[in-house]
Amino acid sequence: METSSLMQYFARSNQGQMVSVHEVPRGLACECICPECGHTVIARQGNIKAWHFAHASGADCPGGAMTALHLAAQELIQRVAKIRVPELVATATGWTTDGELISETVERPIQELAFDEVSLEVNIGDIQPDVVGSQQGERHFIEIAVTHFVDEQKRQKLAAHGVPTLEVDLSGVVAYDWQSLHAQVIDQVELKRWVHHPALADMQAQADQAVQLRIAQDHQVDPLPSATMRAVWSRTFHFNQARVYVDGFPQHIRIRQTHYLKGETFSAMHSLIRSLGGRTTGDRFWSVPLPAKEALLDGLKRMWSAY
Ligand SMILES: [Zn+2]
Repeated sequence: METSSLMQYFARSNQGQMVSVHEVPRGLACECICPECGHTVIARQGNIKAWHFAHASGADCPGGAMTALHLAAQELIQRVAKIRVPELVATATGWTTDGELISETVERPIQELAFDEVSLEVNIGDIQPDVVGSQQGERHFIEIAVTHFVDEQKRQKLAAHGVPTLEVDLSGVVAYDWQSLHAQVIDQVELKRWVHHPALADMQAQADQAVQLRIAQDHQVDPLPSATMRAVWSRTFHFNQARVYVDGFPQHIRIRQTHYLKGETFSAMHSLIRSLGGRTTGDRFWSVPLPAKEALLDGLKRMWSAY
């Protein structure tokens, strides 16, 4: 049985290019073939089902719809010679001397690339990108994934070329016509991801540098823990191999673990802290409001005897 997501909305015309079922004459007069099997298709333009192509022989062609979608997307990019691409994001994290987790992000916003040349399926050394778009001599590779996604091996091969490489995920796309395909392939960025981008290494270095700078500035301003950051009271708890330090600061209570607590010990710690209105402030730190002090210490003592 045909389902709407597997219906074929595009086919190859007798002129050789992909066409939508909405731009051809009805029935056999469409003079189209299925790009997967090469057999004649008819344009079904009825009143009940969405318009689609069906094989004239009545045969079921499992790959037909997907292949047609893939080819239509390629030809669309070639025809409009532009595509919106997602942001590039590099994030770095680090710890201040106070045990605060800080992060810095360097971001390049969403862009629209306009190409002056687009080629399909050209061989470039050991790879054959679905689409190669050039912008003033600067190339971009675009992979269109309908059933086959870029895996790690292919990613490395693509990355070796040092060319920005985008993947467009069409696996869940239902495009009834050129307009909806345009919206999803050209305009939206939600279905796209960068497989590789040579600018990312520089952006990552900038983010790392920004984190290091902030940590260095913290040291300069505050070489020793300041009075406001000095713990007023402290307790230490042992859980198997791990040690947990509980420090009372003027503004909050900080809980710090020396080793990662494992399994149910971690879960028990985490739910105790959450039940007291606490939150995670880093992968080994929690923060709990001051009024929860007695309940926290009681809870930890119970856990201590329990584990
Ligand atoms: Zn077919």
